[in-house]
Amino acid sequence: MRKLWILLAVCVLASSLASAQNQDFSKVQIKVTKVAGSVYLLEGLGGNIAASVGEDGIVLVDDQSAPLAEKIQAALKGITDKPVRFVINTHYHGDHVGGNEYFQTQAPIIAHDNVRKRLETGGTTGNGGSLHFEAKPQPKDALPIITFDHEITVHLNGEDIRALHFPSGHTDGDSIVFFPKSNVVHMGDEFVTHFPFIDVEAGGSLNGMIDAVEKVIAQSPPDVKVIPGHGPLSSLDDLRAYLKMLQETRAATEKALKEGKTLDQMKQAKLLDPWKKYSGEFISADVFLETLYNSLTGSNAGKSIKHN
Ligand SMILES: [Zn+2]
Repeated sequence: MRKLWILLAVCVLASSLASAQNQDFSKVQIKVTKVAGSVYLLEGLGGNIAASVGEDGIVLVDDQSAPLAEKIQAALKGITDKPVRFVINTHYHGDHVGGNEYFQTQAPIIAHDNVRKRLETGGTTGNGGSLHFEAKPQPKDALPIITFDHEITVHLNGEDIRALHFPSGHTDGDSIVFFPKSNVVHMGDEFVTHFPFIDVEAGGSLNGMIDAVEKVIAQSPPDVKVIPGHGPLSSLDDLRAYLKMLQETRAATEKALKEGKTLDQMKQAKLLDPWKKYSGEFISADVFLETLYNSLTGSNAGKSIKHN
């Protein structure tokens, strides 16, 4: 698990810094797992990919990194000869959209309006503290050609594949993608199996992330299969435990803020020690504490567009 998180960290850093070419993707293998119904999980390096595969073809959710695109395509060929029909991006980070240029020659990319905007203009990515990267503007062919404001549904493979925008969570353009017939949900990076990265510099917020996870839990059947943005296939109980961690770490940080503690004092006091099992190589307890602090005190703290 530690190794995985070093790899993820390297990948997120690499893609955010647009220097993915320097990474050795040659040894990465794409692991394919049947999840349920029409849905498969593809794991390589970067964000988890979901693929709905059926009589109409393939609908992909996210496409990892450009150097892996041909391997992803080969893995899909191992499941079906049918074509890719659509690709949905959960958000703009490079380790989820890196294959856009490759796949858009076969199928249109769909994403929330803000994903296209951020890919087009580039900008800053970070937690408002020690994590900070510049995201380069992406070429035209990598930009989603279909965008939406609130939600969009793709009716293929007998499934109503629904991408629903949750404002100001991991970023300001996250979609969570539901496969109701197969009983699977792809959470994007609103749910990872360690402390999450919250891109407060790109409109993300802790409160929005909590809000999104609460809503998904409220509307999901108990036996739903949950695909996290990063980490192994999960259950609704795993998602509940993650929500509890987010709520408890928020409460602990708010309490310390009320007591007038500075960020350094909170770090000294090891405020997040009770949740240290969520600590990863990319988002350590200290980095998550910075994120909590910045999200709860920053200009974006109370901002939430309520349309879900
Ligand atoms: Zn992300």
